[in-house]
Amino acid sequence: MTEGIITAAYIIASILFILGLGGLSRQESARRGNIYAMLGMFIAISATILGSQVTSYGVIFSAMIIGILVGMYVAKKIEMTGMPQLVAMLHSFVGMAAVLIGFSTYLDPSSHFSGVEKTIHDVEIYLGIFIGAVTFTGSLVAFGKLQGMLSGKAILLPARHWMNALMLLVSIYLLIIFINAQSSTMTISSLLFMTFIALLFGIHMVISIGGADMPVVVSMLNSYSGWAAAATGFMLSNDLLIITGALVGSSGAILSYIMCRAMNRSFISVIAGGFGTTVSSSSNNKEVEHGEALSTTVEETVQLLQNAKKVIIVPGYGMAVARAQHIVSDIVKKLQHQDIPVLFAIHPVAGRLPGHMNVLLAEAKVPYDIVLEMDEINEDFSKTDIVLVIGANDIVNPGALDDPTSPIAGMPVLEVWEAKHVIVMKRSMATGYSGVDNPLFYKENTRLLFGDAKESVEAILSQL
Ligand code: NDP
Repeated sequence: MTEGIITAAYIIASILFILGLGGLSRQESARRGNIYAMLGMFIAISATILGSQVTSYGVIFSAMIIGILVGMYVAKKIEMTGMPQLVAMLHSFVGMAAVLIGFSTYLDPSSHFSGVEKTIHDVEIYLGIFIGAVTFTGSLVAFGKLQGMLSGKAILLPARHWMNALMLLVSIYLLIIFINAQSSTMTISSLLFMTFIALLFGIHMVISIGGADMPVVVSMLNSYSGWAAAATGFMLSNDLLIITGALVGSSGAILSYIMCRAMNRSFISVIAGGFGTTVSSSSNNKEVEHGEALSTTVEETVQLLQNAKKVIIVPGYGMAVARAQHIVSDIVKKLQHQDIPVLFAIHPVAGRLPGHMNVLLAEAKVPYDIVLEMDEINEDFSKTDIVLVIGANDIVNPGALDDPTSPIAGMPVLEVWEAKHVIVMKRSMATGYSGVDNPLFYKENTRLLFGDAKESVEAILSQL
């Protein structure tokens, strides 16, 4: 394939990636966005393989077949609730690839640069390896935390900000040595030492981030993996990789910023670590402070629903675990049939990945126009007769607004307690992801319907 055709293919693939991202910003067009992105990736891979840089196909095709088989197996086997871990693991692959490509580019005997060009090439290699190594270990730690293999709690080492600053300064010093050193022993030693520091930096950065801030970490690592890919693109002089990396890097950064705003966190503070960690002095002994949590029955819940003029459903992580979304969708149809209006209230970090609830509700064919975001619906709770909170906890925690010592203080939440009646479906009094007790359970107008969410909604549906 000639260079001209390859460039044209790369431009088409880039446009398809941009259209793909655009499509993913709305539920209605998300499927189309995915198709654009897949088509773009197919064109990108085909053009790269047919390019002049690839001289032997044996290794590439063997690696692709193994990759396709593993990818298909994982995609089929993974539960929706396991998606964040999978995403974190995939980011670590991008980081590892950037490190390996960085070293192979450095060792490539065919690259002869001199003067300014050599300096630029060296900086590309150095940055590619640095960002890749941070992404690699940071993503592995995020995977461990999300999978429950590592504690979700933040591990705060003494003088951690100084340690981070020191690691960055040493890395900059090593960059100067790497660029200016005359002997190859010096250059490879500085590169290896920096890689070691960057690997430690990735671990340290993510272990010091608390559970409540994990959604931001996942999207931040998404952004890092994009920049790592862009750096790889510079090393390999591959324009498409630079464009794609920059798209992933900037969209991940924008998503992190949006999530920080949704959780009322400062982006810099989240990255520096330490949020979501303060143990609230008032988070213990809640039962004593708030009195007793009262439970309810399916019969009482059905009665409330049938007498309601307006119902709001708040889905959370527990609905995903119980796979209750299809039955919930049937309940909505039944209520609508009885002329009872129903809306869904979606918190930006409900579940375990951005958009988790929207995906589940779309899968259960819930119409988009009754699914509202937090900002659109928070005012409506005071005009609502009954709110069904299905497997949600942190996102409806009033402590985020009125307990300044709470680890989730300042995070905007769905103000469900403003409604006449609140029914919370969960299995026990256990806390949610952030490990914080929830004063909502002890409010006068709240009742707990204990049990697996799917069993509870099935019982409600059958009685409706
Ligand atoms: P939470 O994790 O706060 O609460 C979920 C609740 O569901 C638990 O209290 C649990 O209680 C209940 N539950 C679990 N399984 C079942 C079941 N089978 N049936 C009924 N109930 C069940 O979830 P939220 O959605 O409210 O909040 C999301 C949290 O996750 C936030 O803290 C957010 O920061 C964090 N997070 C979000 C990410 C994102 O991008 N969206 C990514 C990573 C973390 P019980 O055990 O008693 O049943």
